[in-house]
Amino acid sequence: MSQAKPGLTRRAFLRSTAEKGFALGGLLGLGLDLRAAQLTARRLPIAGAREVPSVCPYCAVGCGQLVSVREGQIVNVEGNPDSPINRGTLCPKGAASYQLAVNPLRAKKVLYRAPGARQWEEKPLSWAMDQIAQRVKATRDATFREFAETDLEGGPLRDAKGQPTRKKVNHTLAIASLGGATMDNEWNYVQAKLLRALGVVAIENQARI
Ligand code: SF4
Repeated sequence: MSQAKPGLTRRAFLRSTAEKGFALGGLLGLGLDLRAAQLTARRLPIAGAREVPSVCPYCAVGCGQLVSVREGQIVNVEGNPDSPINRGTLCPKGAASYQLAVNPLRAKKVLYRAPGARQWEEKPLSWAMDQIAQRVKATRDATFREFAETDLEGGPLRDAKGQPTRKKVNHTLAIASLGGATMDNEWNYVQAKLLRALGVVAIENQARI
């Protein structure tokens, strides 16, 4: 995975990329095809690293990845050319999966603004987890219903003969879940199980690609 050099501006990076592209295009125009050399260079292992075949954690396409590990640390993740599924390619999300494991910018605290307050407070993640659990429990207890007697517009439910009726729903409409882009397959599985067990029906996830 390429890393931006410190101090390299976006403009300088784009200029350098354009120049490299022009140089390659110019060589191709002269009959020199460097693509085979580029492919070989891509397959050269990173010095001192062990390559571990793996599978992208993000979606059911199941693209193969090569995870390079050096001294117990992940140093690179790229597409596995031997995978018949993706043949070395990864979508933008899979190509960034290195940052799922190694990311110094990962937020480890949350910002909380109490009702009516003007200031944000920094809180530990464990505090936020407890708050969410308590509020989910309280909301579900207050809004869970076993039977529905009204339709989604609030009108009375009626049977085929037009008589008032009710139907079993076992749900709460007061809680919704919006999954983030970096939730992996296993997390999504557990999340969906938990929410459905609670009776939550509004479950949505960000698309994969
Ligand atoms: S998220 Fe992208 S790279 Fe990962 S398995 Fe799906 S398509 Fe492949």
